[in-house]
Amino acid sequence: MDVIVIGGGISGLALAYELAADREVLLLEAEKSLGLHTTGRSAATWIGSYGPPVVRELTTASRDYLIEPPFDVDGPVASPMACLWVGVNGRDHEVHRLVEETHSQLIDGAEAERLCPVLRPGEVSVAAWDETALDLDVMGLHHAYTRAFRARGGSVVTSARVVSALRKAGEWVVTTGSGDSHRADVVVNAAGAWGDVVGSLFGAERLRLEPRRRTIFQSPTNASLEGVPFTAGIDDGFYFKAEGASVLCSPQDASLHEPGDPKPDQLEIARAIEAVNAVTTLGLRSVSTAWAGLRTFAPDGNPVARWDSKADGYFWYVGQAGYGIQMAPALSHLAAARIRG
Ligand SMILES: Cc1cc2nc3c(=O)[nH]c(=O)nc-3n(C[C@H](O)[C@H](O)[C@H](O)COP(=O)(O)OP(=O)(O)OC[C@H]3O[C@@H](n4cnc5c(N)ncnc54)[C@H](O)[C@@H]3O)c2cc1C
Repeated sequence: MDVIVIGGGISGLALAYELAADREVLLLEAEKSLGLHTTGRSAATWIGSYGPPVVRELTTASRDYLIEPPFDVDGPVASPMACLWVGVNGRDHEVHRLVEETHSQLIDGAEAERLCPVLRPGEVSVAAWDETALDLDVMGLHHAYTRAFRARGGSVVTSARVVSALRKAGEWVVTTGSGDSHRADVVVNAAGAWGDVVGSLFGAERLRLEPRRRTIFQSPTNASLEGVPFTAGIDDGFYFKAEGASVLCSPQDASLHEPGDPKPDQLEIARAIEAVNAVTTLGLRSVSTAWAGLRTFAPDGNPVARWDSKADGYFWYVGQAGYGIQMAPALSHLAAARIRG
């Protein structure tokens, strides 16, 4: 085997697909199925004006690929959506800064109310409008990557948690919980929140990755959701978008959490409902379903796609934070190019 990729979320699958163009690749996933952790829990959006500058560039470079992937998909994985960043809690200056740094447009409160008809009149005085956003079918994209990876000859083994590793004669010998061993020249760590845990098995640097919980929930509303864009408070206090007849909403919480299966934070949900009701006429009162996932950050907030400085033949592919889906095509392309030298 040329490469073993550890982790079957969007990051691992996208990079495994890229590498399988000219390498023999095996992907190992700890769970019984793929995409069960952060990838299966996202808000499913592509927003070019979101995140730090490096992330915005990788996101922008991924847009065309998501609209027209170079492999078979069951239906479109990206549909047009607009995004409105609203100035709240005296943070209008941050709206101005976002407009200076991105392709979004500065609009006044009246225009914001016209573009987002559920905004409470007079609550917002300035906003940034980004018409280029996309609504994603994340599992559709993930399945398509998996199929395309297999079509290139790639193999996937699930229920295969990597528990130990040994470097022998220029090869990694990787052992899973069931006792099976696999050999490869190169190992890629795409284990998301478990990045540092997996890294320690290989004697790699400790990156001090920070898994941070994000809660997300659906709430019924009597308000009409026609024409309602993805709307986010510029203070990171909330975001919401229409999801059928319900509202998909997040408090944008980011509390530190150990790698695992986080539960939604009920207090944060209550806070988000209050914040959304303060600026809109959505009248959110109850929650029909809620979940949480871990967005994992490197200390500088940028994704890590590089060789380790200590462990030979070991490549880091972690720290995708809250943008791992929207930047997956460009970031995986870049990582594959680095692995090929
Ligand atoms: C609420 C929420 C909303 C979000 N919204 C968006 C959004 O709108 N747009 C966007 O682009 N991003 C969004 N994100 C971020 C995005 O979901 C992540 O960046 C992305 O899913 C990370 O993918 P990953 O493959 O790196 O991690 P994961 O999907 O977590 O995959 C890592 C995999 O590694 C496996 N693993 C761990 N240890 C081992 C081991 N020892 N052996 C084998 N396998 C192992 C795990 O089981 C897991 O399946 C959101 C995240 C959350 C939580």
